[in-house]
Order: sequence, then C-alpha cells, then structure tokens
Amino acid sequence: MADDLYQRYMEAAAVYRHHASGCDSCSQSDRCFHGERLHKAFAKRQDDYSTRLSAKRR
Ligand SMILES: [Zn+2]
Repeated sequence: MADDLYQRYMEAAAVYRHHASGCDSCSQSDRCFHGERLHKAFAKRQDDYSTRLSAKRR
C-alpha cells in the first residue's frame, strides 16, 4: 500500500502520454477536451504524490 499513490500517478502519466502520442490535437501547448481531462487527472495525482512526499519528510 505504500506505493499506491505512486502507482496511480505513474498510471495516469502513462494513460495521458498514450493519448497524446496518438492524438493530433494534443501537443505541449494545446490539448483536446479528452487530453485536458487526462492531463488534469495526471496533474492531480502528481500533486497528491508530491504532497505525500513532503509530508513524510517532517
Ligand atoms: Zn487529445
């Protein structure tokens, strides 16, 4: 369970990257509706993960 957050973070990153690599509308600066949703989910998990990392350091 220790790496649950990390695993979901990696999973969301992979899902987003997979979408972006096959999507003509998604680039570094622009995202389609679906890509935007995937990227938000990825960003949130990245956030959760780094929050946990810094909380652990105390
Ligand atoms: Zn897209």
